Order: sequence, then C-alpha cells, then structure tokens
Amino acid sequence: MDQAILNSPHGRDVRFHAHPQTNFRLHEQVGPMVIGQGDGVCIVDLDGRRYLDGMAGLWCASLGFSDRRLADAAYAQMLKLPYQQTFAHRSSEPVIDLAEVLLAKAPVPMSKAMFQASGSEAVDTAIKLVWYYHAAIGKPQKRKIIGRQRAYHGTTIAAASLTGLPNMHNGYGLPLPGFLHVACPDTYRGKAEGETEQAYAERLAAELEALILAEGPETIGGFFAEPVMGTGGVVVPPEGYFAAVQRVLRKYDVLVIADEVICGFGRTGAYWGSQRFGLEPDMLTCAKGLSSAYFPISALLINDRVYQAVADFTARLGGFGHGYTYGGHPVGAAVALETLRIYDEIDVCGHVQATAPALQGGLRALGNHPLVGHVRGVGFMAAVEFVADKAARTPFAPELAVAQRVSDAVKERGVLLRALGPTLVFSPPLIARNEHMSEIVSAVAESLDQIH
Ligand code: PLP
Repeated sequence: MDQAILNSPHGRDVRFHAHPQTNFRLHEQVGPMVIGQGDGVCIVDLDGRRYLDGMAGLWCASLGFSDRRLADAAYAQMLKLPYQQTFAHRSSEPVIDLAEVLLAKAPVPMSKAMFQASGSEAVDTAIKLVWYYHAAIGKPQKRKIIGRQRAYHGTTIAAASLTGLPNMHNGYGLPLPGFLHVACPDTYRGKAEGETEQAYAERLAAELEALILAEGPETIGGFFAEPVMGTGGVVVPPEGYFAAVQRVLRKYDVLVIADEVICGFGRTGAYWGSQRFGLEPDMLTCAKGLSSAYFPISALLINDRVYQAVADFTARLGGFGHGYTYGGHPVGAAVALETLRIYDEIDVCGHVQATAPALQGGLRALGNHPLVGHVRGVGFMAAVEFVADKAARTPFAPELAVAQRVSDAVKERGVLLRALGPTLVFSPPLIARNEHMSEIVSAVAESLDQIH
C-alpha cells in the first residue's frame, strides 16, 4: 500500500487500533471515520466534513461537543487536585458534593452514591451488591439475576451476562449461569392483536412470576431494567408495565435495579426515566449524561435498606471488597457537577419536552413509507423499525442490512444515526433545537426514498 496512506490517520488506525463492538475484518477494508473536532451538536472529520450527530456519540454527549464550561471545570479541577482515591476513608470535595446532589435529585429516596468510571462498572457493582445484600441478610442462595431479552447493560462479564443480546454472548460462553432473561416488552412485536397494553403488561408480569416460581423464589436476587430500552431498539414499555412487574418482584423479595445509563438526566423528557415510567428502584445506575461524556464517570445509587444491610456486613467482613482506582475521580465529579448545574440552568427537561414533538412527530409522519413498520420513542430517543411487509410485520433478512443502508444514506446527507438490527435509532444531544430535528427527519425521509 502507498506509504502516504499507510501513515495517514486512517492507515495507522487500521494498523494499530482494534475497535470495540466492530467487525475487525470489515474495519481492515473500510477503515475509520476519524473525527477531529466538535462544534455544538456537530462533529467534524479530518477532511472537514461536518455531521449533525443524531446519536450524541453513544447516547451520551447531552450538551454537545463544545461546551466551554465543562472543559473549564475539568481544567480547574486538574490544576487543583487531579486525582484522589476514595478507598479506605479518603475523599475529595467534588465527590462529596456530587453524591449529595445526586441523592437530592434521585427519583425515589436513596441513601448513598458510589462512583465508578463506566456504565458497565456501575452495573457490575449493582450485581455484586445484589449478591452481597442477600448474603448479608442470611439468604446467600438468592443470587440469580433477571434481565430482559434485547436489553444492553454493558460489556464486563457480569454486565454482558445480564445483557439480552446474543452478539454480546457469542464466542464467550456467556451468559454466566444464574443470569436469566424474560421477554422484551415490545408492543409492536410482542403484544397480541386486540390485546390492550395493560393486558400485555399483565401477561409479561405473569410470565415473570412463572419464571420466578419455576426457578424457586428463594434463588432470585435481582431484576434489572432500563426504563426505556435503548440499544435494544428504543423499546417504550406498555402502559402499566413496571407497576405490574414490580408487584411480582416485591412479592418475592427481589431487588429492583433501574439502569438509567441512557434514560437518566432528561433524555426521556423527565429527569429520570424511572419517574416517567413508574419504576421505583432499590438501586439505580447512571453514567453517560452524568458528565455529558466529557469525562468517564458513572454512579450507583443505593437505598437505605440495601445500605444498612451492606454496612453491617462490611463491618462483619472487615471491609467492602469492591472498588475501582478511578471510582470517585475528582475531575469526573467536578465535570458532572457542572453538567448537572447546566441541566438545571437550561431546564433540560423542559427543553426536551418542548422539542421532542419535532423529532417524534417528524418521524411518525414517515410511518406510511413502505419500508417503515414502526416508529416509536419518547423525549429525545426514538427508533424506526424497517419491515419487508408492513401488514404482516415481516422483518427484512438481516443480510440485506436495510437499517445500515438507510444510516449510510443519512450520513451522506451530513447526519449520523445508528443502525441497530432492524432499526435506525435516534438520540440527539439534549441541546438540539427544532431546526436540528427537522434536519434529521429530512435526511431520513430523503434516504428512505433513495433506498426504496
Ligand atoms: N447500561 C446501559 C443501559 C447502556 O446503554 C450502557 C452503554 O451503552 C451501559 C449500561 C454500559 O455503559 P458503558 O459503555 O459506559 O460501560
């Protein structure tokens, strides 16, 4: 190959960099898209091509890509105290402040915040706490964890086991034993003809109860759910779903964990997805929007019942055997505090509620297109699911990669979206305005006509 190409950023990326969640052989052929700069809701590649990022990175850059205040907050904290551990009684002020602010904002009363660097680490911590909590209260056999098919909860061994997507299991011998998956609450594909949403929700709750009884309630420790499933294809639960499911979980003393890694901090139009969809968790994970992705930080909030049991256990065992070097990073905490301040100042939830109709309404207007089977979403998260036959809801053969082709065509028009299986998903930065939504919707409309 030509020396200049080999030594270009593209060539060097292929030579030196293995990409996560990527087909390595395909990457060797197509190479990377190398982004050099961010500007508001846009990112710009090394050739100067500008893209409206309709995914806010990976559902995370809520304040876009050039917020000066977040950069200043990081810089000021780096100059003052770039690192401090939180093991064994050490702390730093930004971390203390952030814990207090998060607890004040929690959707249900929470007792303590613990910090990590990623969503996967927060989920792993929650899984371990389910085990630890039940061991603490004398029920160590209550350790099976229930997730849902299609749900994504992360990439570490436990979080990937909890995840209900085959591509996260294949080749690894996952899920680990003790991770179970119930049906995805998909009103488009799972709800029977003529069934009400409420009846569908009750049916799903009955299936959950049947699983718990079959496995033995004394073995079931926790249930994890995103308020709206993100990576699974933006699955908005049917009316009454979490009320019905939580009735079952409480009956069998199963801990409820809300994974708010995507939904937290305004993405659904409520501060927490749990508030909007009636989840009342014992623990809550959050990340992504917590720092608007300007610094890797995540948090796990735990309620007092869990905390008190765990606290006694740590005393008996001589300490809590869990924690990360970068859990409670003062720079991450300073950036997160500034992020949360900005969300309050711009009334992020009010803005999302006011602007969501431009996205949701615009996409729903595409519902008559022959390729479009279902349009769904809430707030600033949405999905368009493509079908070969609208009436029969027949999916396209995966090898046709229709969603990927639409995504490629949309990219040609300067908008970045993400193809996930049969769906195209949308998660624009929370600062996006009506004109950005119109640009996204128009790019999709034109691309659909081009593909069809
Ligand atoms: N939980 C949910 C709902 C997610 O969407 C993700 C990532 O997309 C994770 C957990 C894992 O977060 P991370 O990639 O920061 O480890």
